[in-house]
Amino acid sequence: SLSFALLAIASFAQSPYKNASLSDEARIADLLSRMTVEEKVGQLNQVNGGVLTGPSVANDPGAQGKIQLLKDGMVGSFLNVVGTEQTLATQKIAVEQTRLGIPLLFAFDVIHGYKTVFPIPLAEAASWDLAAAEKSASIAAKEASSAGLHWTFAPMMDMSREPRWGRVMEGSGEDPYLQGKFAAARVKGFQGNFDENHVLATIKHFAAYGAVEAGREYNTVDVSRYALWNYYLPSYKAAVDAGAATVMNSFNFVDGVPASGNDYLVNKVLRDKWGFDGMVVSDWASFGEMMNHGYSKDAEQAAIQAIMAGSDMDMEAGVTRTTLVKSVKDGVVPMAVLDEAVSRVLALKFKLGLFDNPYKYHDAAREKATLMADAHLAEARKAAGNTMTLLKNSDGVLPLNSPKNILVLGHLAESQDDVLDFWKGQGEHKYTVTILEGIKAKYPKANVTFIRSVSREGDFDASSVKEMKKAAKKADVIIATIGLFGDLAGEARSLSDVSPSDGQMEMLANAKATGKPVVVLVQAGRPMIMTDVVKDFNTVLYTWIGGTQHGHGVVDVLSGDVNPSAKTVMSFPVAMGQIPVYYNHYNGSRPHVDGNEGPEHFWVSRYRDIPNEPLYPFGYGLSYSSYEYSGLKISKSSINQNESVTVSVNIKNTSGVDGTEIVQLYIRDLVSQPVRPVKELKDFARVEIAAGKSKTVTFELPATKLSFFDQDGNVLLQKGAFKVFVGTNSRDVLAGDLELR
Ligand code: BGC
Repeated sequence: SLSFALLAIASFAQSPYKNASLSDEARIADLLSRMTVEEKVGQLNQVNGGVLTGPSVANDPGAQGKIQLLKDGMVGSFLNVVGTEQTLATQKIAVEQTRLGIPLLFAFDVIHGYKTVFPIPLAEAASWDLAAAEKSASIAAKEASSAGLHWTFAPMMDMSREPRWGRVMEGSGEDPYLQGKFAAARVKGFQGNFDENHVLATIKHFAAYGAVEAGREYNTVDVSRYALWNYYLPSYKAAVDAGAATVMNSFNFVDGVPASGNDYLVNKVLRDKWGFDGMVVSDWASFGEMMNHGYSKDAEQAAIQAIMAGSDMDMEAGVTRTTLVKSVKDGVVPMAVLDEAVSRVLALKFKLGLFDNPYKYHDAAREKATLMADAHLAEARKAAGNTMTLLKNSDGVLPLNSPKNILVLGHLAESQDDVLDFWKGQGEHKYTVTILEGIKAKYPKANVTFIRSVSREGDFDASSVKEMKKAAKKADVIIATIGLFGDLAGEARSLSDVSPSDGQMEMLANAKATGKPVVVLVQAGRPMIMTDVVKDFNTVLYTWIGGTQHGHGVVDVLSGDVNPSAKTVMSFPVAMGQIPVYYNHYNGSRPHVDGNEGPEHFWVSRYRDIPNEPLYPFGYGLSYSSYEYSGLKISKSSINQNESVTVSVNIKNTSGVDGTEIVQLYIRDLVSQPVRPVKELKDFARVEIAAGKSKTVTFELPATKLSFFDQDGNVLLQKGAFKVFVGTNSRDVLAGDLELR
């Protein structure tokens, strides 16, 4: 107790902000009172770090400049400084060589894994498995935090209907409800209880970035407030409610005001209406890019507009760092506004305990033991199997019954790079499993022949035909890989055409000509145009981009060790010209139903050359089991606003294989002002049903799920007639009636 008394005296002597027994609020207030305006502005500055310490730095003026900024107290956070060695050495400079010793936050894009790479988020969403998504985020967090990182720029929650946009791979598809569920699961997985095994999450890109026109990256977004509230905002809101610590602005404008300087979005909606009290970071240089929009005349105005709108941290634009001190000193930006922004940054640092133990994330031994641990690889393999989406199996070729001779075609079967993609974190190839390796591991006794036949870029090698014919003669099955290489998924990867290349189609035609059964594997970070492929081939497995264990995941499904259950969360267009095509659309003034061809169906909303319906609708995916739905029951035909109904359905597994079925519940508000879409997902369940057995699946549907938003974000719950649908996808459903009175 003498030592306790001494400790107490020592902590009195300390500055209050260093005193762990005080509240975070008191410590922040004390610290703010000691900071110069420059130091405050410094906390709002996030710098792209890279390698900042070590032998290479002596000859790197860029790195030295960043270190000098840091020593001057002008850096609050670095992005892209990774690994214990770099983060620890850099943190030491902040803590030991700056005037106030304020620790740094280290941020990185941990999108679907750090070293152990999981399936892309879009694929993970196709598993409809929230527990699995939470788990993969928690493993990603564990690995990233072991490497000294505090903060990930994920999850991306931009609802999108745009397969031309490379970034759909980072999201969870075209439905706001499902996207919101994944948002919450991932936020929980990343953040846990904010200890040194987790990372802060970022809700991005706020808001509506998924609506970039024509799917072109960094392009304009121009959506109505009604669409904003009903389609785009719900998933961000779900992530806010799940407790996400930070939000990232988007590049686009909303209602003519760039998101970074958008008072309505940040101050009014995010902070006032939703009660978000965390920190808002810009997207890369997005404060400065308000000048490109023609919204800010110079850097000074951009920084003012950003902070006055409620945005806090400037990632890489530098406009805040170079101009805000003056704007505050001139009184253009009130000190109270600056203090609030800075306190939101400091609050995160206190929350993580960095003032008391600034090095707790930097532990080389932990890093070594954590990265690519066996248990992580096992989870990644399970996750990959869970995301494989079976589009067609009409000859029953799958599962493969212990083939003895296998012919494998196409570059993607042998490629390690392409199973990771552009947002692969720090993923490397030590444990990356290709499809070819997966096949060899699963069938060690089989004779496996690989012929590249098409290159990475999709060009066909005509000289491979002879070899292919010869190898096909003894093959039991041909496994042909097509798709888009991994670097064509992610940021700045917009495409005007997402069809398989001519070369890939030529390879497939030659494979078909051999007369042997062909299994087509499609690997891509977005839905492709599969119309020609499924016309000619009866066995098509969409593998997305499965991460480190992709090859095992694919072959677990091919072999039947895993019975596929995933269902796509983006519609597959029939043709490029059909984009955007999505299930939760409105009926226009003259809706058309495909197949109605007579003259009375001329002056209606349709194409003359293609159908209206997508090739595969939202929620579609097959399994080795088959299911029969019957007996839809709604417990009451009419309810008031405070009541609920139960909706139940019988599902029979009519096959001889145990399976997991993803059951989906949709509603439709038949007459409404404003109008409502033809279907909206309101619930779902993953149910295991044993071979030959039936299950009754029951959903609770409260009246509140029949509500929607007006253009100002007010909740509307309107009386009237509704349809309730339950089915195996958004198209094939049983329907019932419900009245809200
Ligand atoms: C992307 C963000 C990302 C950031 C940092 C930006 O270009 O739009 O999603 O988090 O870069 O890497």
